[in-house]
Formats: sequence, structure tokens, C-alpha cells
Amino acid sequence: MRRILCLGLGICGILAGLPASAQNAPEVALTRLDCGNAATPGSVARFSDTFAYPELKVQLTFSCYLVKHGEEYLVWDTGYAVGANPNAPKVSLVDQLAQLKLTPAQVRYVAISHYHGDHVGQAHLFPKATLLIGKGDWDVLSGPRPLVPAADPAPLMNWIGGGGKVETITLDKDVFGDGMVVMIDTPGHTPGHHSLLVRLKESGNVLLTGDLAHFQENYDGNGVPTFNTDRAATLASLDRFKKIAATLKATVIIQHDPRDIGKLPAFPAAAK
Ligand SMILES: [Zn+2]
Repeated sequence: MRRILCLGLGICGILAGLPASAQNAPEVALTRLDCGNAATPGSVARFSDTFAYPELKVQLTFSCYLVKHGEEYLVWDTGYAVGANPNAPKVSLVDQLAQLKLTPAQVRYVAISHYHGDHVGQAHLFPKATLLIGKGDWDVLSGPRPLVPAADPAPLMNWIGGGGKVETITLDKDVFGDGMVVMIDTPGHTPGHHSLLVRLKESGNVLLTGDLAHFQENYDGNGVPTFNTDRAATLASLDRFKKIAATLKATVIIQHDPRDIGKLPAFPAAAK
């Protein structure tokens, strides 16, 4: 969808694929944050339940994102906590935001793709933020123990214990109400898994996968990890996600693939 905007004196400009509500939307910017890196390439065999990658090695990365919407900020995924394991980041999200002259109190939303430990690890650093999380994931985290393996409630206890505001998302969530930042319902990897659409005026539309796919071969071949919660849902989510990417001519960022995150400027630069 391309629309031509015509201003007063017959001056027309083109906004690539932005929703009608975006005409007066505040500036949106997307900054990539470091949330960890694998030290060496490793086997990715576990990311296929059809034995598709017996030999393939990928050096996975762990990426988080800051979305600026006018004067409001959203952090998408929070990676591992500093020092949590050999793949954990060396600099916390708070210290990275400080380099941008931002404080945790300025972050209105912490939105997470899903409940795995490498996506929620630093959420507790933003206790005043509203937690946006898929209802399916929230129900697991706040439900009976023991939890399913790899679900990590510890960094989210502020919200699970009632100390922070939480909004559980059932379908899609248009975070700021103008279509510029939308959590896309992509269940399957976990019950409430979401991806994120960010619509930028200069750079165009960007789709952050969450863990809908973990690396390019996995995305291209509709690979389903062995540790998924719902195979059919993942395949349906991949189908929907790819159709959205095609329709909106979006740049797809597979969050764990270093080849992909390089499509966005290196920190501290932001895509706008
Ligand atoms: Zn995951």
C-alpha cells in the first residue's frame, strides 16, 4: 500500500505503506540493543523437528530493541541478565539506555515476545513499566508450578506478584493506537508468542520475529524447533508473518541471527 500525501500548495510526497492514522503520528525510531552473543558458532540441530540441520552451525546473537514513539519509549525483549551465563551481555539495558540519555523511568512499556529466559532476563530493571505479554504466556507464568521448561518467571516477579501493571495480549496489540507499533500474534513457539511490527517513515516497515524463527535457514524452510509448544500454530504463524512481510514490504529481522540484525544500524544509531 503506497499513498500519496498532498499538502497545501500542491506539494505531494510519498509515505511507503504507512497507515492512514500515521499522517500525524509522532516520530518513530528503532534502536538495536545488545542482549548477548554466543562465543562461537554452535549446532542448531535442536531448531528442527525434522532433522533439517544435522551439520549447520550458527553463531546466535541475542538482541533487544528500543522503540521511540514521540516522547514515549517501549523496550522489546530484555535478553539475558548481565553475567547470567557465558552468552549474556556485558552491558545492561539500563546502561545502554543511559548512553542514549534515557532512564528506566522513561520506559512506558516492556513488551516481550515470549517467556523464555533469553527474552525476559532484564525485565526487572523496568519495574514502573507496563508489561505487555501474550495471554498464553502470562497464564503459564502466573499459573501452577512447576512451569514448563525454559519458562522463566523470576525476572517478571514484580508483575506476577502484583507490584507492576500488566496488560495481557490475546490477539494483536496496537500499542500506541496509531498503527505504528503493533504486537503481532504469532503463537506456537510458546502459547502467547508475539512478533513486533514497527513502521518507520524513512526506513519503511520492520518486522521483529521474536523467536518465530531463530536464523535465516530456519525462517526460509519453515523450520520448527524441537522445543516448540504447538507445531501447527507455528506453521500458521509463519504463514501469516510472511504474508504481512510481503504485503507491507517489510524488512524482517530474525532476532537471534547476526546476519539479520545487521540490517539495522549499529548502536547507538537508530532507524527512523
Ligand atoms: Zn524462545
